[in-house]
Amino acid sequence: MFGVGLAFVEPVDDHVGMILTYRYRIKEASCSRHLECQARAVNLVWNYCGGIQEASRRHNKPWPSGFDLIRLTSGSSKLLGLHSDTVQAICKQFALSRNAHCRRPRWRGRKSLGWIPFQSDRAIRMDGDAAIFLGRRYRLWLSRPINGEICCGNFAQDARGRWYLNLDLEVPKDSEHGTREVGIDLGLKSLATFSTGEKIEAPRFYRKYEQALVTIQRAGRKPRLRTIHAKIRNCRKHFLHELSTLLVRGNRRICVGKINSSGLARTSLAKAVLDASWSQLRSQLRYKAMRHGAEYIEVDERLTTQVCSACGACGGPKGREDLVVREWVCGGCGVRHDRDINSAINILVSGRNVGLQGTEIASLS
Ligand SMILES: [Zn+2]
Repeated sequence: MFGVGLAFVEPVDDHVGMILTYRYRIKEASCSRHLECQARAVNLVWNYCGGIQEASRRHNKPWPSGFDLIRLTSGSSKLLGLHSDTVQAICKQFALSRNAHCRRPRWRGRKSLGWIPFQSDRAIRMDGDAAIFLGRRYRLWLSRPINGEICCGNFAQDARGRWYLNLDLEVPKDSEHGTREVGIDLGLKSLATFSTGEKIEAPRFYRKYEQALVTIQRAGRKPRLRTIHAKIRNCRKHFLHELSTLLVRGNRRICVGKINSSGLARTSLAKAVLDASWSQLRSQLRYKAMRHGAEYIEVDERLTTQVCSACGACGGPKGREDLVVREWVCGGCGVRHDRDINSAINILVSGRNVGLQGTEIASLS
């Protein structure tokens, strides 16, 4: 019998709510000038923190902590036209980024995208479809209701200069999940193959716009280029959200192969790999399953293409050399297999074992 290696189970906690980030576009007319003004002040505070950091380095003093920076900047919010909560959030974020990378974060300048953080719900108040921040109303495109406690958040600008309000909400869990279980094989030919035999074709959004991108790049129209890249990103995200929601609604256990996409992205398959955006799908499945109380399991997918799902003999196509082999007949039992469906079934089987034992599994059958 054949081992299918390590896998892990996501911890599923039933009692605590979880924190999700919701993103709302701010209506153009109500925002830009004031937010841009504040964003400049944010940069000022950020660079002040950077300056303190440099000074402490020059004098061989320990790095200032987030708390030190908050003390040094206290009282500056009125002068800068910022919320005091924003100043504190910047100091904390500065210390966090610095500690994560062990060096001074980059200076923020005119080219930096606008960013105005706040770290508690006292800074912001919701009123219908508007957010009230620092005594000013910012009207939102309320794409979904805000049903949860606001923990923190920020105003942020994207590359096209649009402003968004990101809210970290503590949302209650709902346990609306299906009763079936599914194994998913992620691939290039079809984006996902389910153990039920269903296949989802890879929507090649990038390919679709490739020619247009080339033309626009030659013409040097940068804003248009950014728009199309954003469009591709949005199309892809929308498609994956629909797919992952459908999967979580229908299943109580979802097993996915743990594929090494960054390794594949270095080979000639790069563009297709990136386009398929497996990692995005997996992270969506992970948090949606958590939220809906379904089980999300990642399984090491080595051998899953080679082992026969009917009898457990190892005679299937191997690795990248045999990628062209889409169908094969098992030498042990004579069953005719579709490569991807067989693999998806194996992923489900080993995921099921992992779910039962909570540990690595020894055999497939
Ligand atoms: Zn067989």
